[in-house]
Amino acid sequence: MSIILVTGGTGLVGKAIQHVIETEPEGSRFGKKPGEKWIFVSSSEADLRDTEQTKRLFEKYKPTHVIHLAAIVGGLYINMKCKLTFLRDNILINDNVLHTAHLTGTQKVISCLSTCVFPDKVTYPLDETKIHLGLPHESNFGYSHAKRLVDVQNRAYKDQFGCNFTSAIPTSIFGPHDNFNLESAHVIPALIHKCYLAQNNGTPFIVGGSGKPLRQFIYSRDLAKLFIWQLREYDDVEPVILSVGEDQEVSVKELTDAIVKAMNYKGEYILDTTQADGQFRKPASNKKLLSLMGEFRFTPFDEALQDTVQWFLNNYENART
Ligand code: NDP
Repeated sequence: MSIILVTGGTGLVGKAIQHVIETEPEGSRFGKKPGEKWIFVSSSEADLRDTEQTKRLFEKYKPTHVIHLAAIVGGLYINMKCKLTFLRDNILINDNVLHTAHLTGTQKVISCLSTCVFPDKVTYPLDETKIHLGLPHESNFGYSHAKRLVDVQNRAYKDQFGCNFTSAIPTSIFGPHDNFNLESAHVIPALIHKCYLAQNNGTPFIVGGSGKPLRQFIYSRDLAKLFIWQLREYDDVEPVILSVGEDQEVSVKELTDAIVKAMNYKGEYILDTTQADGQFRKPASNKKLLSLMGEFRFTPFDEALQDTVQWFLNNYENART
């Protein structure tokens, strides 16, 4: 019997994993396997910044495997504003989860990092060997250092105790159940929400920055499948980048045009160049992933964006806005 505990199970990625486990055919590559029990938890069951609450959570469910997603997460502006919170809370969460997993003999933990961990000044494309080669970008200094440390911890747990702890590095994620709050959201949910307000209230649709930065976006339900693959088929401490190909970058302007189309928005939008752009681009290679996994069909970007917009419109009342 495998008991798989998903921390952060109520967030964007956690909900996507739950969706895939519940909707893919049972016994298939990404569906639920016989003998597996999946548990998705939120902060209301345990505040993972607190050691005692973390221990009680592990005592309650006795997980054999953990997909560790719980984190304080946010877009560029909140990352710039709250560097200490992003650093400290994430360090506490990660340390409690990894150490409790070690103490209770959990067989495997996959923790979720982010491409923010990579150095600001680095040769592109990013790959798994480049994480510690220089300082991360100033804009998310706190978050990225906390995430980097997980890779260091994983290696130390393996060296000293032989633990099977590893990590995944997704690029920018979007999909149903995202955080659409204008103060803290990432670029896709923030623009969807702004476009919605412009459409409904006749207010200006202002897009922060020049529109030029490029990003690699992954649909949360595709990412969910990659996590399930990594849980079942990958046993090595070295991280794996979970991403679409590096040739799939989208500019913020192209993204805004796609949102305008998906929302059927008839007005104009304004690129506000007085706002920060963040890193210009950070293409990441998915070569290692595909070489290990074989073929994988990513959902076309426009289709995934359309699904996300539709989910937002259908769930506006209950979404995180
Ligand atoms: P969300 O913000 O959607 O969800 C965060 C989850 O973490 C929620 O379930 C939340 O619980 C839980 N959580 C937050 N604080 C605590 C806490 N103190 N104790 C216990 N649980 C807590 O995040 P995402 O799904 O977007 O992110 C999942 C992972 O992916 C994170 O590790 C993130 O760093 C990483 N990532 C995200 C990217 C993105 O574009 N979104 C990009 C790259 C990496 P509750 O619902 O109760 O608040």
